[in-house]
Amino acid sequence: MTAIVVVEDEPDIADLLALYCRREGWAVHLATDGQTGLDTIRARNPDLVVLDVGLPGELDGFDVCRELRRSSDVPVLFLTARDDEIDRILGLEIGADDYVTKPFSPREIVARVKAVLRRGRGSGPGNRSDYGPIAVDLERREVTCDGRPVALATQEWALLAALVDNEGIALSRQQLLDLAWGPDWIGDPRTVDVHVRQLRRKLGDDLPLATVRGIGYRLG
Ligand code: CA
Repeated sequence: MTAIVVVEDEPDIADLLALYCRREGWAVHLATDGQTGLDTIRARNPDLVVLDVGLPGELDGFDVCRELRRSSDVPVLFLTARDDEIDRILGLEIGADDYVTKPFSPREIVARVKAVLRRGRGSGPGNRSDYGPIAVDLERREVTCDGRPVALATQEWALLAALVDNEGIALSRQQLLDLAWGPDWIGDPRTVDVHVRQLRRKLGDDLPLATVRGIGYRLG
């Protein structure tokens, strides 16, 4: 069973997160300050930690993560409220796996937790995502439909990998460009539409790739 520790001092947010995570069938352990959070993580050895940055007491979320990283590589998903916190998270020396800004929807958190967990399982043959008859193996860079390999162009593959990596999350065309083409690429975001059409043509209706109006695209 997937176990998650949520370190969050606002009871409303903590309860809501716990509710949504339990709906997924995950075990959830709550802590409301940094030290208790560390103790809980060490005692429970969870698959993932959801960690609020602003915590009461001696240790804030950054301290907890830094301390944790001395002995553990458990995935950490930060909850953050401020831009300067995001800058520090993106500084990466903290060792975060992802972050979500408040206010957020619990559904978004669940999707991001799933994405982080999938990435965490990245090594080995288990890194395969199935969508009906379609199987995507990110490790081997292989996609099959009914067991038959489907040939994708380099950019089609990069786009598909970005979507699989963020399954359940609606991504804008710009986000997809950054993920699949790289932040330095300059061009028309409609390039994404062209490649989405190609993916749909090659993989057919079984690929659960939805157009999200006003945003972009979502897989799953
Ligand atoms: Ca807080």
